[in-house]
Amino acid sequence: MEINKLVRKNILALKPYSSARDEFERVDEILLDANENPYESEVNRYPDPYQRTLKKAISKIKGVNSANIFLGNGSDEAIDILLRIFCEPGKDEIIIPDPTYGMYQVSAAINNVNTIKIPLSKNFELDPEDVLSVHSETTKLLFICSPNNPSGNSFKKEDIVKLIENFDGMVVLDEAYCDFSEQDSMLKELSGHNNLIILQTMSKAWGMAGLRLGMAFASTEIIKLMNKVKPPYNINTLSQKMALKALGNIDQMRKSVTELLKQRNLLNGTLNELPIINKVFPSDANFLLVRFSDAQSVYKQLIKKGIVVRDRTTVLHGENCLRLTIGTSEENQTLIKALNSII
Ligand SMILES: *Cc1c(COP(=O)(O)O)cnc(C)c1O
Repeated sequence: MEINKLVRKNILALKPYSSARDEFERVDEILLDANENPYESEVNRYPDPYQRTLKKAISKIKGVNSANIFLGNGSDEAIDILLRIFCEPGKDEIIIPDPTYGMYQVSAAINNVNTIKIPLSKNFELDPEDVLSVHSETTKLLFICSPNNPSGNSFKKEDIVKLIENFDGMVVLDEAYCDFSEQDSMLKELSGHNNLIILQTMSKAWGMAGLRLGMAFASTEIIKLMNKVKPPYNINTLSQKMALKALGNIDQMRKSVTELLKQRNLLNGTLNELPIINKVFPSDANFLLVRFSDAQSVYKQLIKKGIVVRDRTTVLHGENCLRLTIGTSEENQTLIKALNSII
C-alpha cells in the first residue's frame, strides 16, 4: 500500500523539532547543549528521545527490529499520534467495532475526527465484511482490539488477516491483552503488510500501568512518521529505567500471567454457579464480562462493600453486564463472598 497517500499533507511536509540529543547516543561527553543543570540527580539530564536502550530490550523479546518500534506515553499517546498523522480534522473518519475500547472514539473526537461504529454480534463476534462494506476514501484508520475490551474474546485470526489485506487504509490492531491470550500475537504479519500497526502495552500483563508505556510496531515508514509527530522527550527517564528492569525479568511477567489465568478460570467456574448470574462471556484476557439478572443493583451493593467493578450496562449488547478484572486470589474470594451475600 502507498502509505504517503493516506498521510495528511501537513505531516508529510513537517520538519520535526530537532532535539539536542537527536544525533548521538549519549556517552560521557561534556553536555553543554541543552541548558540542563549539570549537578547529578537521577534525572538532571533529558531522556533519550528515541529510547534506544529500551527498544533494544523490547526488540529482543518481541523479535522486531528497533526501527519498527515506537514507544508512547501509554498506548493512548500512540492512538492520538496515529489519528494526527492520518486523519484530517473535520474531514476523515475512523472505523471501530462496537463495543470496544473507549479511547479510540474519544481520541478521534478530540481531533475532530468522526467515528463509524460497526456493531458486533450479540456474542461480540466480528464480521469482516461489515467493516469492508462501509469503507470510503475518507476512512483512514480501522481500530481492531483483540482480545477485545470489554467483551474479552479474541477475533479470528483469518478475519483479522482478511481485514489487513482488504481494508484500503491503516489497520491498528490493539493487542493490549495478547499475553493473556491463547492466540499468538500478529507481530509476524508486520513484514508482509505495511498498513498494519500493532499496539501493545506495559499496563496489563507486565503490571506497570502507572509507568505509562505503550508500544507500537509497524513499518519503518510509519515509525518515522510517529517519531516526527511525538513530543521529543515523551518517555521520561524513570519510566525508561523501570521498564528496562522489568523486561529483564520476563519470567516474573509469565508467572503472574499464569496465576491470573488460573484465577480467571476459578472465578469463571464459581460465577457460573451463582443464581444472580445469567452468563459469563468467554474471555481471552485478564477480565470477565458477566451478565447479571440486575447489574445495577449488584454494582451498587458491591460499591457499598468497597468493591469496584466496571459497569458496562450501557454499551451495545452489554445489557446487565459488569466487567470484572481478575484480582489476587484473596480479592477474588472477597468478591465471591460479596456476590453470595447479595443472593
Ligand atoms: C488497557 C488498555 C490499553 C492500555 O493503554 P495504556 O495507555 O497503554 O495504559 C490499550 N488498549 C486497550 C484495549 C486496553 O484495554
